[in-house]
Amino acid sequence: MVFILPEGNPRMPTPASILKDTFGYDTFRPLQREVIENVLARRDTLAVMPTGGGKSLCYQIPALLFDGLTVVVSPLIALMKDQVEQLRADGVPALFLNSSLQPEEYQDNMGKVRRGEIKLLYVAPETLLTPRLFALLSDLKIDCLTIDEAHCISEWGHDFRPEYRQLADVRHRFPSAVCLALTATATPRVRADIKSSLGFSQSNEFVASFNRQNLFLEVQPKLDPALQAVDFIEHFKDQSGIIYCFSRKQVDELADFLERRGHLARPYHAGLNDEQRRINQEAFICDDAQIIVATIAFGMGINKPDVRFVLHYDLPKSIEGYYQEIGRAGRDGLPAHCLLLYSYSDVAKLKYFIDQKEGPERQVALQHLHAITRFAEDKTNCRRKPLLNYFGEAYTIQNCQNCDNCTAEALPQTDITLPAQMFLSCVKRTGERFGAAHVTEVLLGSNAERILRLGHDRLSTYGIGRELNKKQWMHLARQLVQMGYLEQESEYRTLSLSNKALDALKNRTPILGQLHEAEERLSRKARQAELEYNHALFALLRAKRKELADQAGVPPYVIFADRTLVEMAAYAPQSPERLLDISGVGQVKARQYGQAFLELIQAYCQKHNLPEKVKETRRAKEDSGRRYVIVAEAFNRGESVTALMERYKVTAGTILDHLARYAATGQKLHHAGQLLALSSASPDQQAAVFAAFDELGTALLKPVFDKLNGLLDYDELKILRICFLNQDK
Ligand code: ADP
Ligand code: ZN
Repeated sequence: MVFILPEGNPRMPTPASILKDTFGYDTFRPLQREVIENVLARRDTLAVMPTGGGKSLCYQIPALLFDGLTVVVSPLIALMKDQVEQLRADGVPALFLNSSLQPEEYQDNMGKVRRGEIKLLYVAPETLLTPRLFALLSDLKIDCLTIDEAHCISEWGHDFRPEYRQLADVRHRFPSAVCLALTATATPRVRADIKSSLGFSQSNEFVASFNRQNLFLEVQPKLDPALQAVDFIEHFKDQSGIIYCFSRKQVDELADFLERRGHLARPYHAGLNDEQRRINQEAFICDDAQIIVATIAFGMGINKPDVRFVLHYDLPKSIEGYYQEIGRAGRDGLPAHCLLLYSYSDVAKLKYFIDQKEGPERQVALQHLHAITRFAEDKTNCRRKPLLNYFGEAYTIQNCQNCDNCTAEALPQTDITLPAQMFLSCVKRTGERFGAAHVTEVLLGSNAERILRLGHDRLSTYGIGRELNKKQWMHLARQLVQMGYLEQESEYRTLSLSNKALDALKNRTPILGQLHEAEERLSRKARQAELEYNHALFALLRAKRKELADQAGVPPYVIFADRTLVEMAAYAPQSPERLLDISGVGQVKARQYGQAFLELIQAYCQKHNLPEKVKETRRAKEDSGRRYVIVAEAFNRGESVTALMERYKVTAGTILDHLARYAATGQKLHHAGQLLALSSASPDQQAAVFAAFDELGTALLKPVFDKLNGLLDYDELKILRICFLNQDK
């Protein structure tokens, strides 16, 4: 047998090679590969993915494979700059045109586009509709028109924009460009609307799961929200988070309270002027402020991938709103924690506002409120279930392992009868007129002025609870509310005893619960999900990143994401090659920033005698499973069997096995006929072999070999098997 087939170009980039070399990632997120391939096949595509699903790569990778220009329409001017900065850091020639540019910059950018120096052009819809831009684009080869936030085209969406309607027109004026519409809005109605407005066929739609598995979902009864907030954020030292409040006043007060306690928190709401809002948002994005306390006005223009927590200080108005807000956490795929503080008084408050409305609007708002209330009050079912059901997605997994309800049972229950009785009696003795914090202070024997003034130091329960600390008492109080022993009045959150509590006190009913706060649970969670890494080294890498980011005038995550630094601190790469194994390190970033980080890691490792660990890249693992696809795709692009043998250091037989497996999955191999040229089988022999495959199947070659009495060797049979499988495709 001779292997002389036309040599393909072994360095021809593929989606997978761009993913690694340009963006530094090892594996695709769900549906990214499918969407990219569909776009490359020039089929108009609608991709629906949740926030953080990785929509951007779905057009950025094709843009780098197409000859011509990819135009990205986005309504979020603030995000364009961010996207372009991130692309440039990865060495991708991208720029934007919108009203935020000075006239000279605008001209300059137009020039670059005209000269074909740009692969990706971001524009606002109103910009795209100007004659000036239209004229420019008409002279160029536009290969792809991407419409981001495509739900804006639908009047059924929550964010309809009239300019978007005209995109249908624009789309027709560039008939040779493939169109990719992207959105995170999952409702079928909006999806159908997008497709019909843009004239897409039914089939080319990809809808990813809306389950964000890396988000830990938790609901706690709201007893003393300010303290609960402080307790919560203490778990996230130096890590970014968002706190959502209902009103502007609450935002200001809480931000102030947190600042006074030494947290770097900034407020954000529509009552602040533009400049103030911009400064605060910038501080958050650049890690100068750790926490943003905000009304729902905050978030649309935020691309920050490393938000580690979202705290809902008040009840959101709907499941959709809740989902959108928690969606801003953990876009980088690392664990993030979402805590909702729930009290019935919030429901009452929202209801009060809803009652000012009329007719159907009021009806709809009430339905939304009921749904989120049911979600918050559910203490048994997985939190993901109602959330995903709401978006029309069935969630069948019994235990997600990542919400409070699913992990609750795993915690050992202890006998808390005695402290529970203490707490309940103290509520009783203080006259059922106080909140949990006050009751706790009495139990701890506090000398606070208010306690003395009320004479609560003379109660029999004063100071009897010193064996537990304040946190433990507050945690206990929350459990007693949750279990229905305590009732909470809406306005001032005062606690009173339920009949269940009175019975329990009288009958000394045993009560089971936990004395230790979620702390251990949190750290246990974090350990489960994350890589073990050196925290001191991570802190140094982070400081280096901040320094470089400030120098370059970009947000730190543009340099490297947290995940990248976590991996560096776990594997301690010491050479440029090893550095390229790290997720998020592409060729350009390695060149630009690699040295600075390597020097730091090397110095640290030397000082602490830390060895480098080799990362077994996930790609290597996945590739071995999907190797046959990669080989077959390369073959389809024209690479020869010999070239593939060399590349993968395997025999011809192995390559032929890969191709057969590919053909057996029903996919077509191009120019498989050329393989036949490699075979020395006569037409008669070939017919006999085909007949044998027909009879005996293609899974095993031995029966066919035997049937032909060893007339043809195994490599011959392998070639004929491929041709057999590839018939009539
Ligand atoms: P979306 O627009 O869907 O909200 P993005 O495109 O902004 O999501 O991606 C969210 C984050 O995930 C970004 O930081 C991006 O770099 C990262 N990301 C995207 N795809 C991958 C991947 N295949 N592997 C690792 N990280 C990825
Ligand atoms: Zn769950």
